Amino acid sequence: MPVSLYNTMSRSLELLEPISDKEVGLYSCGPTVYNYAHIGNLRTFLFEDLLKRTLLSAGYTVKHVMNITDVGHLTGDGDEGEDKLEKMAHKTNKTVWEIASFYTDAFFKDYDALNIIRPEVTCKATDHIPQMIDLIKRLEEGGHTYVSGGNVYFSIDSIPDYGKLARLDLNNLRTAVRDDVNQDSNKKNSKDFVLWFTNSKFGEQAMMWDSPWGRGFPGWHIECSAMSMYYLGEEFDIHCGGIDAIPVHHTNEIAQSEAATGKRWVKYWLHGEFLLDDTGKMSKSKGEFLTLGLLKQKGYDPMDYRYFCLGGHYRSQLKFSFESLNTARTARKNVCDRVIALKREKAVVVALKSEKALLYAQRFDEHIQNDLNSPRALADLWGVLKDDTLERDEKYSLIVKFDQVFGLGLADLNVVEVETIDDPEALLLLQKRTDAKKAKDWTLADSIRQQLDAMGYLVKDTASGPSLEKKM
Ligand code: AMP
Ligand code: ZN
Repeated sequence: MPVSLYNTMSRSLELLEPISDKEVGLYSCGPTVYNYAHIGNLRTFLFEDLLKRTLLSAGYTVKHVMNITDVGHLTGDGDEGEDKLEKMAHKTNKTVWEIASFYTDAFFKDYDALNIIRPEVTCKATDHIPQMIDLIKRLEEGGHTYVSGGNVYFSIDSIPDYGKLARLDLNNLRTAVRDDVNQDSNKKNSKDFVLWFTNSKFGEQAMMWDSPWGRGFPGWHIECSAMSMYYLGEEFDIHCGGIDAIPVHHTNEIAQSEAATGKRWVKYWLHGEFLLDDTGKMSKSKGEFLTLGLLKQKGYDPMDYRYFCLGGHYRSQLKFSFESLNTARTARKNVCDRVIALKREKAVVVALKSEKALLYAQRFDEHIQNDLNSPRALADLWGVLKDDTLERDEKYSLIVKFDQVFGLGLADLNVVEVETIDDPEALLLLQKRTDAKKAKDWTLADSIRQQLDAMGYLVKDTASGPSLEKKM
């Protein structure tokens, strides 16, 4: 089945033709682990999971590589500001290594809770310093670098097509060299970027390594080029990330990768649009931000957020509000109820035979394989759920097939769980009881249990944590 994807490089929909017939090489820029991921970041990781699941359902095997940025990401994209991890370490009196380890674990807890398939390779920047140094050496040999003020810079004037992904106006870039007042005065062109910092403003930088240019640390962009090429080869199929990476991060990744190899690096570039809050793009720098943990505390299931994201196309901005999340929760609950009803009737997965079922399957594939049109594909799911003329097993089989792409865990729903997840008040109380137990406030924990009991719920403390059951 042909898969079409919107390639940011060509600004058009293109038929996916992987470099190798067997396996799609997929690289996505991972998290910078200095804080919890906000739900906007998670939208981007959910889009990448939708992409991977779509490729898998279309019959491809996928090698997905994702980096963990644990060094070198400054607060400003143009090499200005502080290292984000160092800043958090100073603020909290922890080491940068402790910060990186804590927030990497927290990130993967969210990742798993959202049922995102783990990448085949997860690679930390700090584990790949030799690969980065090798790449910088290659660039140096090719005449693409200069040393200034102790740092090694990439010279954008050493290549003919800098900025092609973002369609930057090169003439403007060449002439506006020294206009930017905030620019690093070591730079020959304001768009040049650091490959290796030695003489930087970070006197107390904890993470440093020896290099041919002196003891220091890498610039942010080099890690993605070095690690993707190390694991996927010098040319691979798909690179994705959030839309904010286009003008600087991905532009610089392309410049240094293609300057080093002398050939095209990535065939398809895919970018996910922003999640917005009331004030615009959701971002960590605003201070307070919404996390998955916070949604859980408010009684939402991570799958409610997954369903909410599926309701918007990945290339459209999506406005977050609790009102829309509630709508998504109700809709998901309805889906789950219908699936449970089928399970109660002992529905099983069968090969599709009827013309009608085959048509539903075909339409679903067409929609999702047309640049991941998840809103249309969700409408297909509803079409199936509401179609009373479909034979029970075929209906269930279609749902299971669709959910391999949606990742809502519908095939794994167990009857009791579903019956207990639709009552936000009860879930909130359960969370409060868990918190009370953690705080060893047994009286409060017990009174909450009684309150739940009066509401018709039985609290069960299982090995995998507390759960609720509806009393018969
Ligand atoms: P970071 O951990 O800051 O490196 O960001 C991880 C990913 O989240 C990157 O691919 C960003 O482009 C993406 N991102 C950041 N803010 C948003 C947002 N408001 N909506 C969607 N994606 C975002
Ligand atoms: Zn990257």
